[in-house]
Amino acid sequence: MAAVLIALSVVTSSVHALTINLNAGATLTANPAALAAFNRAANQWSSQIADPITVTIDANLASLGAGVIGQASSVILQANYNNVRNSMVADSAGEADDGIVAALPTAAQFSAFLPTGFSLGGNLSASKANLKALGFAGLDAGFGTTDATITFSSNFSFDFDSSNGVSAGLVDFETAAAHEIGHALGFISIVDVIDAAVSNGQTFVVAPRTLDLFRFGAGVNPSNPANFTTTARNFVPGNAAILDDLSSELAFSTGASNGDGRQASHWKDNSLTGTLVGVMDPTLATGAFVPVGANDLRALDLIGYDITVVPVPATLYLFASGLMGLVGIARKRAV
Ligand SMILES: [Zn+2]
Repeated sequence: MAAVLIALSVVTSSVHALTINLNAGATLTANPAALAAFNRAANQWSSQIADPITVTIDANLASLGAGVIGQASSVILQANYNNVRNSMVADSAGEADDGIVAALPTAAQFSAFLPTGFSLGGNLSASKANLKALGFAGLDAGFGTTDATITFSSNFSFDFDSSNGVSAGLVDFETAAAHEIGHALGFISIVDVIDAAVSNGQTFVVAPRTLDLFRFGAGVNPSNPANFTTTARNFVPGNAAILDDLSSELAFSTGASNGDGRQASHWKDNSLTGTLVGVMDPTLATGAFVPVGANDLRALDLIGYDITVVPVPATLYLFASGLMGLVGIARKRAV
Protein backbone atom coordinates (compact mmCIF):
# COMPACT_ATOMS: atom_id res chain seq x y z
CA MET A 1 0.00 0.00 0.00
CA ALA A 2 2.69 2.43 0.96
CA ALA A 3 4.65 1.59 -2.16
CA VAL A 4 1.67 2.45 -4.37
CA LEU A 5 1.22 5.84 -2.72
CA ILE A 6 4.90 6.67 -3.03
CA ALA A 7 4.80 5.76 -6.71
CA LEU A 8 1.89 8.15 -7.18
CA SER A 9 3.79 10.97 -5.55
CA VAL A 10 6.67 10.42 -7.93
CA VAL A 11 4.32 10.72 -10.89
CA THR A 12 2.91 13.93 -9.45
CA SER A 13 6.32 15.42 -8.85
CA SER A 14 7.32 14.89 -12.45
CA VAL A 15 4.43 17.13 -13.50
CA HIS A 16 4.32 19.73 -10.74
CA ALA A 17 7.13 19.82 -8.25
CA LEU A 18 9.40 22.18 -6.45
CA THR A 19 12.91 22.12 -7.87
CA ILE A 20 15.71 23.16 -5.55
CA ASN A 21 18.71 24.00 -7.69
CA LEU A 22 21.79 23.66 -5.51
CA ASN A 23 24.54 25.82 -6.92
CA ALA A 24 27.42 24.12 -5.12
CA GLY A 25 30.69 25.98 -4.65
CA ALA A 26 34.08 24.38 -5.21
CA THR A 27 34.70 23.33 -1.61
CA LEU A 28 31.30 21.68 -1.27
CA THR A 29 31.70 19.99 -4.66
CA ALA A 30 35.04 18.62 -3.52
CA ASN A 31 33.33 16.93 -0.56
CA PRO A 32 31.00 14.35 -2.14
CA ALA A 33 29.57 13.17 1.19
CA ALA A 34 28.63 16.73 2.16
CA LEU A 35 27.15 17.46 -1.24
CA ALA A 36 25.11 14.26 -1.13
CA ALA A 37 23.77 15.17 2.31
CA PHE A 38 22.89 18.67 1.11
CA ASN A 39 21.00 17.15 -1.81
CA ARG A 40 19.14 14.77 0.51
CA ALA A 41 18.16 17.76 2.64
CA ALA A 42 16.87 19.62 -0.41
CA ASN A 43 14.99 16.53 -1.51
CA GLN A 44 13.25 16.26 1.85
CA TRP A 45 11.54 19.56 1.04
CA SER A 46 11.17 19.29 -2.72
CA SER A 47 9.67 15.79 -2.59
CA GLN A 48 6.86 17.11 -0.39
CA ILE A 49 6.14 20.43 -2.14
CA ALA A 50 4.23 20.54 -5.41
CA ASP A 51 4.67 24.17 -6.50
CA PRO A 52 6.15 24.15 -10.04
CA ILE A 53 8.90 26.63 -9.21
CA THR A 54 12.68 26.59 -9.10
CA VAL A 55 14.49 27.79 -5.99
CA THR A 56 18.20 28.46 -6.41
CA ILE A 57 20.46 28.10 -3.39
CA ASP A 58 24.15 28.96 -3.50
CA ALA A 59 25.71 26.41 -1.16
CA ASN A 60 29.26 25.98 0.00
CA LEU A 61 31.65 25.05 2.75
CA ALA A 62 34.11 27.68 3.93
CA SER A 63 36.32 28.49 6.87
CA LEU A 64 34.08 30.41 9.27
CA GLY A 65 34.78 31.87 12.68
CA ALA A 66 35.36 29.70 15.71
CA GLY A 67 32.12 28.24 17.02
CA VAL A 68 30.10 29.15 13.91
CA ILE A 69 28.49 26.11 12.31
CA GLY A 70 27.09 27.91 9.32
CA GLN A 71 25.48 31.03 8.02
CA ALA A 72 22.57 31.59 5.70
CA SER A 73 20.91 34.54 4.08
CA SER A 74 17.81 34.73 1.93
CA VAL A 75 16.68 37.32 -0.57
CA ILE A 76 13.70 38.98 1.13
CA LEU A 77 11.34 41.26 -0.75
CA GLN A 78 8.35 43.30 0.28
CA ALA A 79 5.19 44.36 -1.46
CA ASN A 80 1.84 45.96 -0.74
CA TYR A 81 0.08 44.09 2.07
CA ASN A 82 -3.11 43.32 0.16
CA ASN A 83 -1.16 42.25 -2.92
CA VAL A 84 0.67 39.54 -0.95
CA ARG A 85 -2.29 38.70 1.30
CA ASN A 86 -4.63 38.25 -1.67
CA SER A 87 -2.05 36.02 -3.38
CA MET A 88 -1.96 33.84 -0.26
CA VAL A 89 -5.75 33.59 -0.28
CA ALA A 90 -5.85 32.74 -3.98
CA ASP A 91 -3.04 30.20 -3.68
CA SER A 92 -4.82 28.34 -0.89
CA ALA A 93 -8.24 28.35 -2.51
CA GLY A 94 -7.99 24.81 -3.88
CA GLU A 95 -6.61 23.25 -0.70
CA ALA A 96 -9.23 21.78 1.60
CA ASP A 97 -7.08 22.11 4.72
CA ASP A 98 -6.25 25.77 4.11
CA GLY A 99 -9.64 27.40 4.56
CA ILE A 100 -8.24 29.54 7.37
CA VAL A 101 -6.04 31.43 4.90
CA ALA A 102 -9.16 33.03 3.41
CA ALA A 103 -9.75 34.59 6.83
CA LEU A 104 -6.42 36.44 6.83
CA PRO A 105 -7.09 40.09 7.59
CA THR A 106 -7.06 42.64 4.82
CA ALA A 107 -4.79 45.63 5.31
CA ALA A 108 -7.68 47.56 6.79
CA GLN A 109 -8.42 44.74 9.26
CA PHE A 110 -4.81 43.96 10.19
CA SER A 111 -3.36 44.94 13.58
CA ALA A 112 -0.41 43.83 15.66
CA PHE A 113 1.13 44.28 19.07
CA LEU A 114 4.48 46.03 18.58
CA PRO A 115 7.10 47.48 20.92
CA THR A 116 6.83 51.20 21.61
CA GLY A 117 7.84 53.33 18.64
CA PHE A 118 7.29 50.66 15.96
CA SER A 119 4.43 50.88 13.46
CA LEU A 120 2.92 48.96 10.55
CA GLY A 121 3.54 50.50 7.16
CA GLY A 122 1.21 48.76 4.74
CA ASN A 123 3.63 46.19 3.31
CA LEU A 124 4.26 42.49 3.80
CA SER A 125 7.63 40.81 3.25
CA ALA A 126 8.63 37.29 2.27
CA SER A 127 11.56 35.33 0.95
CA LYS A 128 11.85 35.45 -2.83
CA ALA A 129 11.26 31.69 -2.89
CA ASN A 130 8.01 32.14 -0.95
CA LEU A 131 6.82 34.80 -3.39
CA LYS A 132 7.53 32.42 -6.28
CA ALA A 133 5.31 29.82 -4.59
CA LEU A 134 2.62 32.50 -4.33
CA GLY A 135 2.77 32.97 -8.09
CA PHE A 136 4.74 36.20 -8.36
CA ALA A 137 6.55 36.19 -11.71
CA GLY A 138 9.73 37.80 -12.98
CA LEU A 139 11.50 37.73 -9.61
CA ASP A 140 14.72 36.11 -10.87
CA ALA A 141 14.89 38.57 -13.75
CA GLY A 142 14.38 41.48 -11.41
CA PHE A 143 16.41 40.43 -8.39
CA GLY A 144 18.89 37.77 -9.59
CA THR A 145 18.50 34.01 -9.73
CA THR A 146 19.85 33.34 -6.23
CA ASP A 147 17.16 32.83 -3.61
CA ALA A 148 19.47 32.11 -0.71
CA THR A 149 23.10 31.56 0.18
CA ILE A 150 23.99 28.88 2.71
CA THR A 151 27.55 28.31 3.90
CA PHE A 152 28.63 25.74 6.46
CA SER A 153 31.94 25.76 8.28
CA SER A 154 34.66 23.57 6.82
CA ASN A 155 36.31 23.65 10.25
CA PHE A 156 33.40 21.99 11.98
CA SER A 157 33.02 18.24 12.41
CA PHE A 158 29.75 17.03 10.91
CA ASP A 159 28.35 13.58 10.38
CA PHE A 160 27.63 13.60 6.66
CA ASP A 161 25.84 10.24 6.56
CA SER A 162 23.04 9.52 9.01
CA SER A 163 22.10 6.22 7.36
CA ASN A 164 24.16 4.37 9.96
CA GLY A 165 23.10 6.72 12.78
CA VAL A 166 24.67 10.03 13.77
CA SER A 167 27.91 9.76 15.69
CA ALA A 168 27.79 10.93 19.29
CA GLY A 169 28.99 14.52 19.61
CA LEU A 170 28.55 15.33 15.92
CA VAL A 171 25.89 17.46 14.24
CA ASP A 172 24.07 15.75 11.38
CA PHE A 173 24.82 17.76 8.25
CA GLU A 174 21.61 16.80 6.45
CA THR A 175 19.54 18.05 9.42
CA ALA A 176 21.45 21.34 9.51
CA ALA A 177 21.06 21.83 5.76
CA ALA A 178 17.34 21.03 5.85
CA HIS A 179 16.92 23.60 8.60
CA GLU A 180 18.64 26.35 6.64
CA ILE A 181 16.68 25.51 3.49
CA GLY A 182 13.52 25.93 5.57
CA HIS A 183 14.52 29.52 6.32
CA ALA A 184 15.23 30.10 2.63
CA LEU A 185 11.78 28.83 1.68
CA GLY A 186 10.18 31.31 4.05
CA PHE A 187 10.25 30.14 7.67
CA ILE A 188 11.25 33.59 8.97
CA SER A 189 9.86 36.25 11.30
CA ILE A 190 10.17 40.01 11.39
CA VAL A 191 10.40 39.69 15.18
CA ASP A 192 14.13 38.99 14.83
CA VAL A 193 14.64 42.33 13.09
CA ILE A 194 12.52 44.07 15.72
CA ASP A 195 14.47 42.29 18.46
CA ALA A 196 17.81 43.58 17.13
CA ALA A 197 16.43 47.09 16.68
CA VAL A 198 15.11 47.18 20.24
CA SER A 199 18.56 46.28 21.51
CA ASN A 200 20.08 49.08 19.43
CA GLY A 201 17.54 51.63 20.59
CA GLN A 202 16.12 51.92 17.07
CA THR A 203 12.61 51.74 15.66
CA PHE A 204 11.32 51.16 12.12
CA VAL A 205 8.20 50.74 10.04
CA VAL A 206 7.42 47.02 10.11
CA ALA A 207 6.65 44.88 7.05
CA PRO A 208 5.71 41.54 8.65
CA ARG A 209 6.79 38.28 7.03
CA THR A 210 4.08 36.01 5.64
CA LEU A 211 4.57 33.54 8.50
CA ASP A 212 3.97 36.38 10.96
CA LEU A 213 0.33 36.55 9.84
CA PHE A 214 -0.18 33.37 11.89
CA ARG A 215 1.82 34.58 14.92
CA PHE A 216 -0.29 35.36 17.99
CA GLY A 217 0.37 35.92 21.65
CA ALA A 218 -0.04 32.67 23.55
CA GLY A 219 -2.63 34.35 25.77
CA VAL A 220 -4.45 36.36 23.08
CA ASN A 221 -5.20 34.02 20.21
CA PRO A 222 -8.19 33.31 17.98
CA SER A 223 -10.76 30.56 18.39
CA ASN A 224 -12.82 30.95 15.20
CA PRO A 225 -12.33 32.38 11.70
CA ALA A 226 -13.99 35.67 12.58
CA ASN A 227 -11.59 36.48 15.39
CA PHE A 228 -8.69 34.97 13.45
CA THR A 229 -9.27 37.95 11.17
CA THR A 230 -9.57 40.55 13.90
CA THR A 231 -7.21 39.38 16.67
CA ALA A 232 -3.99 41.40 16.74
CA ARG A 233 -0.85 39.47 15.82
CA ASN A 234 2.01 39.67 18.32
CA PHE A 235 5.46 40.90 17.24
CA VAL A 236 6.81 41.86 20.65
CA PRO A 237 10.11 40.10 21.42
CA GLY A 238 9.83 38.16 24.64
CA ASN A 239 6.07 37.71 24.49
CA ALA A 240 5.09 34.04 24.44
CA ALA A 241 4.00 33.42 20.84
CA ILE A 242 2.34 30.64 18.88
CA LEU A 243 1.52 29.72 15.32
CA ASP A 244 -2.27 29.46 15.38
CA ASP A 245 -4.27 28.15 12.40
CA LEU A 246 -7.25 27.21 14.58
CA SER A 247 -6.43 23.51 14.22
CA SER A 248 -3.18 23.60 16.16
CA GLU A 249 -1.14 25.92 18.34
CA LEU A 250 2.63 25.56 17.98
CA ALA A 251 5.03 27.56 20.12
CA PHE A 252 7.56 29.91 18.52
CA SER A 253 10.85 31.15 19.93
CA THR A 254 10.63 34.74 21.11
CA GLY A 255 13.94 36.47 20.34
CA ALA A 256 17.68 36.10 20.78
CA SER A 257 18.24 39.38 22.65
CA ASN A 258 15.00 40.33 24.38
CA GLY A 259 13.22 36.99 24.40
CA ASP A 260 13.97 33.39 25.28
CA GLY A 261 17.48 33.58 23.87
CA ARG A 262 16.53 31.98 20.55
CA GLN A 263 15.84 33.71 17.24
CA ALA A 264 12.10 34.18 16.73
CA SER A 265 12.24 32.64 13.24
CA HIS A 266 12.02 29.19 14.85
CA TRP A 267 9.76 26.90 16.79
CA LYS A 268 10.22 27.03 20.56
CA ASP A 269 13.40 25.19 21.54
CA ASN A 270 12.64 21.66 22.69
CA SER A 271 15.41 22.00 25.23
CA LEU A 272 13.16 24.58 26.96
CA THR A 273 9.87 22.72 26.59
CA GLY A 274 10.64 19.03 26.16
CA THR A 275 8.66 19.05 22.91
CA LEU A 276 10.42 18.91 19.54
CA VAL A 277 8.08 20.72 17.12
CA GLY A 278 10.15 20.19 13.98
CA VAL A 279 13.40 20.66 12.13
CA MET A 280 12.94 24.44 12.50
CA ASP A 281 13.89 24.08 16.16
CA PRO A 282 16.44 26.81 16.95
CA THR A 283 19.22 24.53 18.14
CA LEU A 284 20.65 21.31 16.79
CA ALA A 285 21.18 18.34 18.99
CA THR A 286 24.35 16.42 18.41
CA GLY A 287 24.06 12.74 17.61
CA ALA A 288 20.58 13.07 16.11
CA PHE A 289 18.87 13.15 12.73
CA VAL A 290 15.75 15.37 12.69
CA PRO A 291 13.58 15.10 9.57
CA VAL A 292 11.48 17.79 7.95
CA GLY A 293 8.21 17.11 9.73
CA ALA A 294 4.49 17.74 9.51
CA ASN A 295 4.62 20.97 11.53
CA ASP A 296 7.44 22.37 9.38
CA LEU A 297 5.45 21.56 6.24
CA ARG A 298 2.27 23.00 7.73
CA ALA A 299 3.99 26.35 8.27
CA LEU A 300 5.04 26.43 4.62
CA ASP A 301 1.58 25.26 3.56
CA LEU A 302 0.02 28.26 5.31
CA ILE A 303 2.36 30.80 3.69
CA GLY A 304 1.69 29.59 0.17
CA TYR A 305 3.34 26.27 -0.63
CA ASP A 306 1.36 23.34 -1.96
CA ILE A 307 2.21 20.34 0.17
CA THR A 308 2.18 16.83 -1.26
CA VAL A 309 1.04 14.28 1.26
CA VAL A 310 3.69 11.60 1.34
CA PRO A 311 3.19 8.74 3.79
CA VAL A 312 6.08 8.29 6.15
CA PRO A 313 7.25 4.68 6.41
CA ALA A 314 6.45 3.16 9.78
CA THR A 315 10.11 2.39 10.32
CA LEU A 316 10.98 6.07 10.03
CA TYR A 317 8.35 6.93 12.63
CA LEU A 318 9.98 4.51 14.98
CA PHE A 319 13.41 5.87 14.22
CA ALA A 320 12.29 9.44 14.78
CA SER A 321 10.40 8.76 17.98
CA GLY A 322 13.30 6.71 19.25
CA LEU A 323 15.50 9.77 18.92
CA MET A 324 13.19 12.05 20.86
CA GLY A 325 14.50 10.99 24.22
CA LEU A 326 18.04 11.76 23.21
CA VAL A 327 17.43 15.21 21.83
CA GLY A 328 16.63 16.81 25.14
CA ILE A 329 19.83 15.74 26.80
CA ALA A 330 22.23 16.11 23.90
CA ARG A 331 24.41 19.19 23.63
CA LYS A 332 22.81 21.67 21.30
CA ARG A 333 24.08 24.39 19.02
CA ALA A 334 22.25 27.33 17.54
CA VAL A 335 21.43 27.23 13.85
ZN1 LIG B 1 17.59 28.70 12.09
